[in-house]
Amino acid sequence: MSFGLWCLSILLFARNAFAQSNPNGSSSDDVFITPNGYNIRNNGTVGPLIRLTGWEGCDVKDPCNPDLDKKAAIKKGFEDMQTMIPAWEDVPDPSDPPENSYDVNWEDAAAVEFFGSFQRTGEHRSNVQTNLNMLAQQENNIIGWSLHVRCDDPSHECGGIYDQAYTSHRAETYDHINFCDGYFRLRNLAEALDFGSQPTYRDNIIAYQSKAMTWAHELLHVSWLGKVSVLDQPYIKDELYSSNPKFQAYKAIDTKWLAFSDIPPGYGPANNPNTYAYFTMAKYVMKKKDYYPSSPIWSTNSDPPPRFVLADNFTEIESPTSCPTKI
Ligand SMILES: [Zn+2]
Repeated sequence: MSFGLWCLSILLFARNAFAQSNPNGSSSDDVFITPNGYNIRNNGTVGPLIRLTGWEGCDVKDPCNPDLDKKAAIKKGFEDMQTMIPAWEDVPDPSDPPENSYDVNWEDAAAVEFFGSFQRTGEHRSNVQTNLNMLAQQENNIIGWSLHVRCDDPSHECGGIYDQAYTSHRAETYDHINFCDGYFRLRNLAEALDFGSQPTYRDNIIAYQSKAMTWAHELLHVSWLGKVSVLDQPYIKDELYSSNPKFQAYKAIDTKWLAFSDIPPGYGPANNPNTYAYFTMAKYVMKKKDYYPSSPIWSTNSDPPPRFVLADNFTEIESPTSCPTKI
């Protein structure tokens, strides 16, 4: 390929990468973030390469907290996710890092509880690793990517006060993420670590919910970022824990059920965004506090786990909120 053609290809590639979510081009509201991967390999000299654009409805005041800057809270959640899921941690030579940017011990407690035993994860491990690498690096090509984010709920899916966000795949607007009121009531990562590590809650992963987990979840839904395992579908969907499409595996105990029970298919954990969110937060707690938050667990030793018998008793801390009622 000639140099001119190469340049043209790069330009077209860049244009496509940035056109994925915003056909109208850039605007002054755009927020740029340097991906962890570039930052580490290039000492931050390349970038910014992630563009968050759109922001429809994000200037509408939050009824609970009128001083809240929603745009800043969305950016903060992304940056917290970069902290929660670091790339190439403790690598001696960042210019020559190992292939996997997020190190996984497939036999530690967190990996076994959220993804399944070593035998069971077999054919899905490489896919899970690919997704974890993506979350750690936030890269999908050499140029970067653009994502449409908004707060005006165009699909009317922000129904409950705990609804945090959803990713829409409507063709006319490309993939985009909408942030609901519940997202803004979640803690930042440092606050979640402090709150969860109190003696009362310490062992329960639910107590560590944060904006960073929501971001990790939603990025996996984005078609050009999350990689589907085994199934033939265009993007990752939330796995179900029964044949009822309303029963998606969101709660921590539901994600563990995907990894333990014989009923769901083996690819379940690999294709379930909240599995990754809980797993990476558990690993972050292990790193910062030196223990594994092993709860919630089932109250009996029957198998498959009795999904409908034991509800999470920590509903009140699942969505730590300064505004408990929706106005
Ligand atoms: Zn989801």
